[in-house]
Amino acid sequence: MDTYLVGYFFLATSALIDPYGRKIDYLRISVTDRCDFRCTYCMDEDVSFLSREEILSLEEIVHVAKTFISMGTKRIRITGGEPLVRKNILWAIEQIANTDGLEELTITTNGSQLYKMAQDLLNAGVSRINISLDTLKADRFYALTRRDKFQQVINGIEAASQLPFKRLKINSVMLKNHNDDELYDLAQFALDRKMDISFIEEMPLGIITDHNRAATYLSSDDVIETLSQHYDLTPSSMTTSGPTSYYQVAGHDHKIGVISPHSHNFCDTCNRVRLTVEGRLLLCLGNDHSKDLKDIIRNTSHDATTLESAIIDALALKPLQHHFNLDEAPQILRFMSATGG
Ligand code: SAM
Ligand code: SF4
Repeated sequence: MDTYLVGYFFLATSALIDPYGRKIDYLRISVTDRCDFRCTYCMDEDVSFLSREEILSLEEIVHVAKTFISMGTKRIRITGGEPLVRKNILWAIEQIANTDGLEELTITTNGSQLYKMAQDLLNAGVSRINISLDTLKADRFYALTRRDKFQQVINGIEAASQLPFKRLKINSVMLKNHNDDELYDLAQFALDRKMDISFIEEMPLGIITDHNRAATYLSSDDVIETLSQHYDLTPSSMTTSGPTSYYQVAGHDHKIGVISPHSHNFCDTCNRVRLTVEGRLLLCLGNDHSKDLKDIIRNTSHDATTLESAIIDALALKPLQHHFNLDEAPQILRFMSATGG
């Protein structure tokens, strides 16, 4: 489909439709590539970060978010890097959350700042939080994140669980021989706190020197098989605009889910695009198709019409699906932290 037709679909339906007929109403924004952790599967210890000039200002991020909302975006997720280490992030969250037309503002965080920011996030308009936690063992946490902040994260999770968020979810990347003996403990930790949990298959994003992705790969089928020994699991029809497939857990109100970019491709229901911290609109996590919005914003003095046209043009680049292969060198050289995981 050519750009003209994509534009036509936007004007006719007030929604962004990609060349394969998928309605794009979900934007994920990486607000920083920086992080207070160094998870072994995500980044090297000595990673170099972007300079201030290279990344979008918070005002620019809010401008892009508001433009997307005016074009039919209903859900926005703030992520990173670690979004809560960006200075004044609460200001940007509040600006975006209170924009007419947006139905939901959510964040993904490593949890390290929640012990002091959970209430502020609720007040700013965040409705759901995904908190990443790959282990319940302090020494293993240190090995996986290279930081000694296990108790700080647990305190943050407990603080958030006391507040009336619409939903809290734990995200765990499962790594064979690193944390796969904790599947049940992690699931029970979440269910005990009235949270859902998603187990994630690792994706080959960026080259990391001391981590072998192929050796640590664990499929979500293996995860479900192991958990079925502890719980009565029934596939659930619940969706939350993300790629998680959920299971109802007998005797519990909350759910166990799996995100399976390798074993069960979910691209046919893709509803999202990503704004990287450098201001590139990324059409697919597993491909490099993207369009630079930063130059457009900076050269057109925040003119909304030009930005809208660029977004419509970019949508024509959205590929049908991703192809991940853990046995080959990563095709995608950007890290999840720069992309907005
Ligand atoms: N720092 C925040 C956090 O950890 O939640 C937000 C950004 S982080 C990139 C978002 C999610 O991506 C986390 O749940 C993390 O575990 C996951 N992640 C990072 N690298 C990954 C990879 N290569 N494959 C699969 N998930 C990954
Ligand atoms: Fe930081 Fe999140 Fe990457 Fe871990 S997964 S290094 S917490 S951005």
